[in-house]
Amino acid sequence: MATTLVEPGVQEVGKSKTSTKYVYSFGGGKADGNGKMKDVLGGKGAGLAEMTNAGLPVPPGFTIQTEACREYMRQGGVSEEVDRQMDAALARLESLQGQKLGKGDNPLLVSVRSGAKFSMPGMMDTILNLGLNDESVEALGKKSNNPRFAYDSYRRLIQMFGNVVLDIEKHAFDEVFDGKKKQRKVKLDTELDAKALKEVIAEYKKVVKREAKRDFPQDPHEQLVMARDAVFRSWQNERAKHYRRINNIDDMLGTAVNVQAMVFGNLGETSGTGVGFTRNPAIGTKEFYGEFLMNAQGEDVVAGIRTPVHISELEKVMPDVYRQLHEITTRLEQHYRDMQDFEFTIQEGKLYMLQTRNGKRTGIAAVRVAIQMVEEGLITKEEAIFRVEPNQLYDFLVPRLDEKKTKVEVLATGLPASPGAAVGQIVFTADEAVEKAGHGAKKNPVILVRAETTPEDIHGMEVAAGILTSRGGMTSHAAVVTRGMGKCCVAGAGDIHVDEKARVMTVKGEKFREGDWISLDGKLDAIPPKADDPELLKLMGWAEPFRKLRVRANADIPRDAIQARAFGAEGIGLCRTEHMFFAEDRIPHMQAMILANNEKDRRQALKKLLPMQRSDFIGVFKAMDGFAVTIRLLDPPLHEFLPRREDLMVDIAVLPNAAAKEKKAMVEKYGRFGAKGAGDLKKVLPTLLRRVEELHEFNPMLGHRGCRLGITYPEISEMQARAIFEAAVAVAKDGVKVHPEVMIPLTATLKEMANQAAIVHRVANEVFKEKQRKVDYMVGTMIELPRAALVADEIAKEAQFFSFGTNDLTQTTFGFSRDDINKILPTYLAEGILKQDPFAVLDREGVGQLVKMATERGRKTRPELKVGICGEHGGEPSSVEFCHQVGLNYVSCSPFRVLTARLAAAQAAAIDKLGVEGGRTK
Ligand code: ADP
Ligand code: MG
Ligand code: MG
Repeated sequence: MATTLVEPGVQEVGKSKTSTKYVYSFGGGKADGNGKMKDVLGGKGAGLAEMTNAGLPVPPGFTIQTEACREYMRQGGVSEEVDRQMDAALARLESLQGQKLGKGDNPLLVSVRSGAKFSMPGMMDTILNLGLNDESVEALGKKSNNPRFAYDSYRRLIQMFGNVVLDIEKHAFDEVFDGKKKQRKVKLDTELDAKALKEVIAEYKKVVKREAKRDFPQDPHEQLVMARDAVFRSWQNERAKHYRRINNIDDMLGTAVNVQAMVFGNLGETSGTGVGFTRNPAIGTKEFYGEFLMNAQGEDVVAGIRTPVHISELEKVMPDVYRQLHEITTRLEQHYRDMQDFEFTIQEGKLYMLQTRNGKRTGIAAVRVAIQMVEEGLITKEEAIFRVEPNQLYDFLVPRLDEKKTKVEVLATGLPASPGAAVGQIVFTADEAVEKAGHGAKKNPVILVRAETTPEDIHGMEVAAGILTSRGGMTSHAAVVTRGMGKCCVAGAGDIHVDEKARVMTVKGEKFREGDWISLDGKLDAIPPKADDPELLKLMGWAEPFRKLRVRANADIPRDAIQARAFGAEGIGLCRTEHMFFAEDRIPHMQAMILANNEKDRRQALKKLLPMQRSDFIGVFKAMDGFAVTIRLLDPPLHEFLPRREDLMVDIAVLPNAAAKEKKAMVEKYGRFGAKGAGDLKKVLPTLLRRVEELHEFNPMLGHRGCRLGITYPEISEMQARAIFEAAVAVAKDGVKVHPEVMIPLTATLKEMANQAAIVHRVANEVFKEKQRKVDYMVGTMIELPRAALVADEIAKEAQFFSFGTNDLTQTTFGFSRDDINKILPTYLAEGILKQDPFAVLDREGVGQLVKMATERGRKTRPELKVGICGEHGGEPSSVEFCHQVGLNYVSCSPFRVLTARLAAAQAAAIDKLGVEGGRTK
């Protein structure tokens, strides 16, 4: 993998290199930087500086800023100036500590820690105990009077350095370590004595020599330089890139490197390490929340190697330390005015703070914490609105296992690390998860079952429906990452045993293998998530007054429309009539209509469809009483309703020699096309094939669809218009306030629009006359072709509203087929050719410009033109923000995204009004 990224445009010109401050020291009660400097120092570095300035016990050190990482990416190395400033900072640290890095009777050891602007849990690398070598390990053993501890630290260094810097696979070390444990017949790492660890070190060095073709570097300064550069490189590792892609973080930001004096949690039974939250990150209750391990170092807690103990235990073993930790973290929360996620280490009874950051939390916790903090006077209501990511509101809609309706047999219980429920097939590795989960139409739910997850599992976790781990607590990697993803996770289910090699999960003697189905429920008994949760409503109540955009839903059937209303939809922005035709009882009539080769037969079939459509519209109008409903006339090419050409050809070939049973199956399959008995097949099949071939298109996406159908078969548009207006008049008679908006799909020219609008207006008038009643209505168009956007001023002469069909508009603007893009997209994203999937996030620079331009041109002709968007983008927060900025009237999205869109729209407007900096682009 190439690690150098040449991006000439990024280099800051006119800034002389020597004037750049690359290294920021912290320690001795003061720091060069502060908490606001996340861009420069990364989140971790900024936090360490801020805590140091606040007089908290933080081991001293220095931060090499992100510009050095960007430089590394551009040039494949850092400049001499970075080296010079680093050495000067190291010298300062050494004199502050009265120690020398890896030298003398009391050697200084440091950690080399990654830390970017946005937290990326475990995605990049950290190295501990740097400075140890064959000599300093002996000095450390003597000084601490604890040789076991010294060797344990050294073997950890070789392991981490070997893996991170020298690219040696973890299992090469694990094999040695596990082998030693087996040989000594012990279970826990802590049970290996000094002698055993010394042997491990000797073996580790051989592993290094064998795998990296070099010796483990004994020179501490060389170790430091190599570790620093490896951390810079880790910004570019696959899992970090993947994480940034999922979380929409700019690849060019780079990471800072923090070099910090070590403190030791592995010095025996009065030492330990832990992590915690100032509030419960799963359900948001105000409780001091954390986990720790005695006699452990660094990652031991998060990695789930040993199951950590609840923080309340600390109160029992070390009440003073507990109190101090509680006091410090409470202060940190007050200071940052947000829930903190912190890391600490206790060295022989003395507490050190190693990290603090705004903690990741579930949507439910986000809402609750925001409200609590307003009530506590810590933040304002306006700030509270921004404390919840719109996408997190899905957590209120997550499914639960219905224990009333289905009998569930509880296999095992663990910690409800992330809410929701999931049903899927077991997989044991991340790669398998990706393979089995599939995509598009072949999607298949999988549940990733692991002893513990690691950052390397990120791609598998992303595609899994849920995650189950046998080890690790509420702060384990699995817990933290799934909460960020809004995905169900049950962690630390002690009763299950996972054998990843043999691919078996054993639960109380029962074996489960890959492909077996299980279900998870990350149940939060305290607050079952639901859309009308009183606290959610409260927060929405603060946000909504800002909102300018209306939010509608895409709904085709009354049930969805009712659902959408419950989520607060203000109308329907897209009602797809073809979905009505796909219903079991209608498809025969639809197919009869398609098979008709003359207008008379076609009208006959349409007549049968009319009352069905009318009754659908009646249901939808009633559900949306008082709100507008946009109904799109038939859009897809007709052959989508017929059997596949290839299937038909096979059946025709098989028919002459088919057994009675096979014929029976064919009659069932083709009954709706007129095959009443086996005898009809011989005639029906070839006729059907002929029609399928007539309708066959090479490129159906650009073919006989949209308004082109209505223009070639006007009787279809007529029937649909009639169904709409008859339904509208009927409900209006019952007192329903109805506002149909008839939408013509896929127009490219004014004449197309005029042709279809004329039909709709004519039928409307006919119906109004017949029924002696009028309703308000509009006729408009869906803008999904670049030409339509270009001539929007023309089209607006006939169209009373526009609705951007951004799915098709993205297809036609990029020339990407939405159904085939998965072949290209992974490469495009990995290479940075596209930053995001343009079908998920509206492409502001291209497609967005068409939206903006068409809106402006359309309103030039018709100032009151109503403009909305009805593609998938309508429920995606950054796209919603864009729609707000270009002045659309509404967005429309699937019912389950309505809440998200409402909050995103409110935030977008509040950003304007309150002058909040930033916005949704990172
Ligand atoms: P991450 O960003 O993956 O959490 P960190 O840089 O925070 O990585 O380091 C990983 C672990 O190592 C943390 O548990 C942290 O507490 C521990 N650690 C880092 N630096 C030191 C240090 N100077 N002394 C003791 N432990 C440290
Ligand atoms: Mg880590
Ligand atoms: Mg950390």
